[in-house]
Amino acid sequence: MSHRVRRPVIAGNWKMNKSPGETTAFFREFLRAHQPREDRTVIVFPPSLSLAAARVAALERPDVGLGVQNIHWEASGAFTGEVSAGMAADAGASYVLAGHSERRHIFGETDEQVGRKVAAALAARLVPVACVGETLDERRADRLRDVLLRQLDAVLDAIPADAAEKLVLAYEPVWAIGTGVNATPADASDAHRILRDRLAERYGASAAGELPILYGGSVKPDNAAELLAADGVDGLLVGGASLDPAGFARIIAA
Ligand code: PEP
Repeated sequence: MSHRVRRPVIAGNWKMNKSPGETTAFFREFLRAHQPREDRTVIVFPPSLSLAAARVAALERPDVGLGVQNIHWEASGAFTGEVSAGMAADAGASYVLAGHSERRHIFGETDEQVGRKVAAALAARLVPVACVGETLDERRADRLRDVLLRQLDAVLDAIPADAAEKLVLAYEPVWAIGTGVNATPADASDAHRILRDRLAERYGASAAGELPILYGGSVKPDNAAELLAADGVDGLLVGGASLDPAGFARIIAA
């Protein structure tokens, strides 16, 4: 299915980088390099501790959305070290990453937990950016489709059907994250088609066509345009390259 949303989403996942002070410095430069534009939705995911600094730095720029990289599914309680969706929303987040591969593979997050986080995000009126992606071994074993659909179905099974339209998905092949080896545009299109077809099976073609699916994995200023132009790619989730204000602005302009 050929698909293009009106406004590509370009999101920057800073991972565990940039203190509050560094966040202020980033925004000072970034907001000079990137002027508001109607044809892009821009989101930055700083560490939770730097969200307040990001919020202050971007007060005059509501065109730049903010999010957190992770939440717990409970609203409050004895979960040392965690933050809830409601807290993130109150602190100025509008988006939350869920199921990033580093959460799944380093911290052992399960499909079921990712589903609970997505449901908690929606309940707090945050937009979840739910990440799915296969490892290199899974790809080599011809398990791309199985893995993507297992991860996607776990998210969709956790939320009411009428909430699915509020989701953003990100296809992030694990072998492409932080490696410098991006998926080819054709690889990205194939994976996005698998996801979009499943969405169409579950919710109908029209609803499936509305839901943005981002590509993430070693996106850089010099490959952003071709990845963004790939069939079915509605935006980019950028890790390492989003840490450089000028470079991130170039990716947004791609
Ligand atoms: C990410 O962290 O989501 C990511 C895609 O990282 P990188 O761009 O560094 O590969």
